[in-house]
Amino acid sequence: MTKVHNYSAGPCILPQEVLKKASEAVVNFNDLNLSLLEISHRSKDFVEVMENARSLVKELLGVPEGYQVLFLQGGASLGFLIAAYNFLPTGGKAAYINTGTWSDNAIKEAQRIGEVAEIASSKDKNYSYIPSGFGIPNDAKFLHYTSNNTIFGTQFKKTPISRIPVICDMSSDIFSKKINVADFDLIYAGAQKNMGPAGTTVYIVKESALGKTGNNIPAMLDLQSHIKKDSMFNTPPVYPIYVSMLNLQWLKKNGGVDWIEKVNNQKAALLYSEIDRNPLFKGITAKSDRSNMNATFILTDESLTEEFNKDWAAANINGIKGHRSVGGYRASMYNALPLESVQVLVDVMKEFEKKNG
Ligand SMILES: *Cc1c(COP(=O)(O)O)cnc(C)c1O
Repeated sequence: MTKVHNYSAGPCILPQEVLKKASEAVVNFNDLNLSLLEISHRSKDFVEVMENARSLVKELLGVPEGYQVLFLQGGASLGFLIAAYNFLPTGGKAAYINTGTWSDNAIKEAQRIGEVAEIASSKDKNYSYIPSGFGIPNDAKFLHYTSNNTIFGTQFKKTPISRIPVICDMSSDIFSKKINVADFDLIYAGAQKNMGPAGTTVYIVKESALGKTGNNIPAMLDLQSHIKKDSMFNTPPVYPIYVSMLNLQWLKKNGGVDWIEKVNNQKAALLYSEIDRNPLFKGITAKSDRSNMNATFILTDESLTEEFNKDWAAANINGIKGHRSVGGYRASMYNALPLESVQVLVDVMKEFEKKNG
C-alpha cells in the first residue's frame, strides 16, 4: 500500500497499528470467535472495553476525583444542546465566546434554553483571531468556548480566566496537549477529530455541578442518567468506543499527552516556519492564535493554484484543501500524523518555490 500523508480535518488520521487491531476485532474479538459487532454490550468483554476507555481518558488527562467520563452519541453538535440543558436553567443566561462556526452553532442551541450573552467574537475578521479582553456578566451561569477552531485554524493558548464555571468544546484539540481538567465543569469532544473514529462523543463532567437547573431534561440528554448507568444507559456505540480505546492505548504507550504535545509543537513549528519563510505562501490567522492542529494558509499568487494542487497530490498528500468558508489550504496535524508527513509537505512547498520563485 502506498503511504498517504493524511491531513484530513475530520474524520482524522488514525495510527496504522490501531486500524489493524480494529479490523481484526470485526472478525474475531478477544479470541471469542465472535465479532465485536455481534456481542452484547453487557458482556464482560465489552464492559471491559468501556471501562478501559473511560479510565484511559482519566489517566491521560489527569482527571481529578469528582469527575465522570462518558462516551455518548450525537457528536459535538448534540453536545451543544446537552451542555445547555444540563447547565442552563430555562430562561437563564450564559456567556459564549464566538470564535467560529462551531461556537456559533453552540450559541444557537443554547438559545433554545435561555439567553446567550455573546461576550466576544472574531466574526468581524472571518474568525481569523482569538478575541481577548472580554467581561463576563455576573448573572451568567457558565462561560462556553471552543478551544480549537477547526475550520479557521485558531486556538486558545490558555483557558480564559473566569469566575463562573467554564464549559469547553474540545473536539479538535483534546489529547493534543496538557490541560487542567479542574478548570472546567464540562468538557465535551466528538471523537473523530483527535481521539478516534466518528460515532462517539466524550464528556468529562464535574458531577457536583449537575442537577441544579430545575430543567425537565429528556433522559438521553441528561448527563445524570448516563452517569447512573456507567455510560450504558442505552446501547453504546461499541465500535467507535473500541477504536477510541485502542487509539488512547497507542497514545499512552508512546508517552501520553506530554509526549504528543512536544511532537505536535514540532510539527506546527516546522509547517508555520515554512509558511512564513516561503514568499509563495501566507498564513491566514493571527500569529499568536495559530492552531497547532489545523494550519490554514493561502497562495500569494492564486494563478498557481492548479500547479500547487498537482504537486502535493503527486507527493501522496491528502486532505489539505481549505474549508469552503475560508478557502486556500488547511493542513490538519492531528496526533497520529507523523512529523515525516509534515516534512513531505514542507519539501513540496520548497520545491514549488524553486520552480516559481
Ligand atoms: C467537527 C466539530 C464539531 C462538530 O462535531 P460533530 O461530531 O460532527 O457534531 C464541533 N466542534 C468542533 C470544534 C469541531 O471541530
